[in-house]
Amino acid sequence: MKSEKILKDGHIHSPYCPHGTNDPFELYIEQAIRCGLDEMSFTEHMPFTRYFTDDKKFLDECSPSKEIIEKYFHDLGKLKPKYKDKIKINTGLEVDFIDGYENETKDFLNIYGPKLEDSILSVHFIKVNDEYIAIDWRPGFEEALEKLGTVERIYDKYYETLLKAVRADLGEFKPKRIGHPNLIRIFNKLYPIEYKNKELLQEIVKEIKNGDYEVDVNTAGLRKPYCNEIYVSDIFKELIEEYGVKKVYGSDSHTASDVGRDFDKE
Ligand SMILES: [Zn+2]
Ligand SMILES: [Zn+2]
Repeated sequence: MKSEKILKDGHIHSPYCPHGTNDPFELYIEQAIRCGLDEMSFTEHMPFTRYFTDDKKFLDECSPSKEIIEKYFHDLGKLKPKYKDKIKINTGLEVDFIDGYENETKDFLNIYGPKLEDSILSVHFIKVNDEYIAIDWRPGFEEALEKLGTVERIYDKYYETLLKAVRADLGEFKPKRIGHPNLIRIFNKLYPIEYKNKELLQEIVKEIKNGDYEVDVNTAGLRKPYCNEIYVSDIFKELIEEYGVKKVYGSDSHTASDVGRDFDKE
């Protein structure tokens, strides 16, 4: 338990997320106010720049289309004045880092960037041979395991991709916060590992610190049946504390009732 109360939820999705609930913005906002938060950031998934796997249907479920995201900006912009005396609401995106698509991502960020007040850069996909695999669902994790051979190699690949994400030149609108850096632990109860490559983690944390980035202390892992951890844990957590990296709590809510959830845990 922490002594200090967390007053900001920095990672919240919206009714426009294709894999989330239809809870309207107002429900998320009212829940945040009820939790006693004074700031919240909507960080909807950024549309994919283009199809980088053959599974178009799957990608369409990962992030909204360009048309939908325009609606997201528009509707959120209209709502903000209504709540301005009660809570600070930031407009943002959760941007995927796709290894090899840095230029396309930069181009997209240059379009949306002027509208962004708070954003997150996340790794959900790893590139294995020439294929991109989403590691945060079980078939993806298991496909990566089959291709890479060991759980340790999946972790290596994930963290190497994360390091690239931190170092990547994505232009002036690159998000300042690194999303759920321990997401790869999502199936740690199914595939236990004591990850030993501390040097790689140290390299990542050093780059995070040098680049003046924040980390998303993401409580969604507590709600995943095979994770049961916050996505900043273990050695990684020790390192970010050692280096004095700024932490921003995020619920990663895809439903209004999850806003501000588990912020008293560490
Ligand atoms: Zn999502
Ligand atoms: Zn994410």
